[in-house]
Amino acid sequence: MAALIDLRHLGNEGVIASYLLEGPEPALVDCGPAICLPGLEAGLARLGLALADLRHILLTHIHPDHAGAAGELVRRHPALQVHVHEVGAPHLVDPERLERSARRLYGESFDGLFGSIAPVPAENVRVLGARALGLEVVPTPGHAWHHVAFLDADGVCYAGDALGCLLPPGNFLYPASAPPEIDLEAWEKSFAALEERAPGVVRLPHFGEHGDACEIIFRARGRLRDWAGRVAAGASEAEFVEEAVRELVEEAGEAAALYRQLPGLDLSYAGLVRYFTKKAERERSG
Ligand SMILES: [Zn+2]
Repeated sequence: MAALIDLRHLGNEGVIASYLLEGPEPALVDCGPAICLPGLEAGLARLGLALADLRHILLTHIHPDHAGAAGELVRRHPALQVHVHEVGAPHLVDPERLERSARRLYGESFDGLFGSIAPVPAENVRVLGARALGLEVVPTPGHAWHHVAFLDADGVCYAGDALGCLLPPGNFLYPASAPPEIDLEAWEKSFAALEERAPGVVRLPHFGEHGDACEIIFRARGRLRDWAGRVAAGASEAEFVEEAVRELVEEAGEAAALYRQLPGLDLSYAGLVRYFTKKAERERSG
């Protein structure tokens, strides 16, 4: 059994979710940022649990909106095991570089958006293999090198940021393509890897459960291709953002304002530009 916990990021419902996997050893899929710890605690309490009951955290990736609270959770409850891709593991133990990179992106809003990032002691970190806690671990690079999705036996996919963000009641699905690690080739393979497994249900951290998993994959891939195409064709940031805002308003309607809680469309542009610039550099150097 699994339950969605709305972390009520900055008091808003429906922006960042964590998922509780119930059982003898309760686990979270992504624990959210430190600033959401009160929301996590309240969400667990509604399900009859306390933070101390948790035994595991499965991380789709280490970005602060997914994993920022892990160090603080372990500090309070040293029995917690934090499962993460091997490339992400050293950055949990020593989060300085991760924090610097995120601060570069978010500037002065970093602290208000995420809170602090405490290190996770090495002895609490478990490097992910092919399976974890009975779930299949599916490497899904593209949004980040070390990104994974988790798939349970019932066809439920915990997709992290691999399939983009969709904030109900809005129906605008967009790829989280902020810098610095966007890789379109890898992302295409990740879409294919998920599609091959034909999940029935997708659970998104941003946000909620969607019963039309194949459609979500199809739409996420389509929009990423569209956006990448615009950047490759030389769209300026202003042109890119204008077009994306038009799509946002058309597809999200009244919920458009909610999307402002997530990384901006200018960051999605910057991530794609960086990808194409790096690619051109690689090709030049042979
Ligand atoms: Zn992310």
